[in-house]
Amino acid sequence: MIQRDLSVLWHPCTQMKDHETLPLIPIRRGEGVWLEDFEGKRYIDAVSSWWVNLFGHANPRINAAVREQLDLLEHVILAGFSHEPVVELSERLIELTPPNLTRCFYADNGSAAVEVALKMSFHYWRNRGQPQKTKFVTLQDSYHGETLGALAVGDVALYKETYAPLLMQAFTAPSPAGCYANDGESYAEYARRQFEAMAALLEKHADELAAVIVEPLLQCAGGMRMYHPIYLSLLREACDQYNVHLIADEIAVGFGRTGTMFACEQAKISADFLCLSKGLTGGYLPLSVVLTTEEVYQAFYDDYIKLNAFLHSHSYTGNPLACRAALATLDIFAQDNVIENNRKLAQVMGDVTRPLRDHPHVGEVRQQGMVVAIEMVKDKATRQSYPWQERRGLRVYRYALEKGALLRPLGNVIYFMPPYVITPEQIQLLAEIALGGIEVATDD
Ligand SMILES: *Cc1c(COP(=O)(O)O)cnc(C)c1O
Repeated sequence: MIQRDLSVLWHPCTQMKDHETLPLIPIRRGEGVWLEDFEGKRYIDAVSSWWVNLFGHANPRINAAVREQLDLLEHVILAGFSHEPVVELSERLIELTPPNLTRCFYADNGSAAVEVALKMSFHYWRNRGQPQKTKFVTLQDSYHGETLGALAVGDVALYKETYAPLLMQAFTAPSPAGCYANDGESYAEYARRQFEAMAALLEKHADELAAVIVEPLLQCAGGMRMYHPIYLSLLREACDQYNVHLIADEIAVGFGRTGTMFACEQAKISADFLCLSKGLTGGYLPLSVVLTTEEVYQAFYDDYIKLNAFLHSHSYTGNPLACRAALATLDIFAQDNVIENNRKLAQVMGDVTRPLRDHPHVGEVRQQGMVVAIEMVKDKATRQSYPWQERRGLRVYRYALEKGALLRPLGNVIYFMPPYVITPEQIQLLAEIALGGIEVATDD
């Protein structure tokens, strides 16, 4: 199986030559938090299969919903046609999100949703007679996907730098993330201080700005960096003041990941565009959605010959099977008291990883709801990081696999972002494995 794979596949986000020494792991089945390979070895999926899985693999309730839909309708074009799952899902998403969001536009992956939000924002200003508003502001360390538009408004050098000649220019505001704060400075103080640069950018460039795009509270791919909600409150006010849209990319943080259903709730704000994907279908099928306001929708609503319509589409837009999986996922949220239960699990995640703070090669242990990140450093006192070439995180990855956990670090940052069906005992086991892995990875 491994040989067959390596002779025909090209894997995502992978230097394929690594597989000369790093074994590829074919998975035969999944159940709950567990993935099982062909030898019967099991791994706890501590990264929710790239942050998508919420309620475990082969979840009986989501399985049943998808199976039922399969016999009715697998797919239909969404232009000119409609279907029950997409209407019901839109109604429920509008119900769950702030009152200003009244319209759902679908795509089939997170990057595509970001492209939709960027294009819609630009196009809104154009339809409203302000075609000079063409630029976007992003945050340092942000990540919004890999397609060219999404990459252009991201700031992770590893993914972006190579393609710089192909990308539109965005303004980058300095990070609000508390991991950069001075000793003794709180996350809130640092966020306020860092907001001054954002405010200055908005004031100076308001005339040419379409939107600011952010990952609310938690910048995932940029190293699981967390910031205080005050930054979002200030940003919402300033966007209103300067007539600039706010795009909330909750593709990774939506659906309970940060402790509330949506991260923006913690700042009591609403965006003009809300991008959702990943956990939307419980990790079953590719689907994404951009929610926006009636104001935006109305700017496109006109006679056809004015050519103001949003002529954007993807083949699998609003796929019925994916929408059914999403509806089953929302049912679980509604029936199982998930947010409340996650609060207890998050408490356990915090408790079991607290001792790691004292480790001589751990710079910071940070947590936002159902995500804990542990940053390995070369020098604890100065926070000096290990050179990336040493690939210390990869050592943790290998160690964890041996011990039965899928922990896929981001550089030197080890993190847990497990499905919500994980148990306190399994969280304890993950902490032990992480500690062992960090010991092995930092002992020279
Ligand atoms: C994963 C991610 C994306 C991109 O989603 P894909 O489905 O991988 O294209 C965009 N934004 C954020 C915040 C993400 O974490």
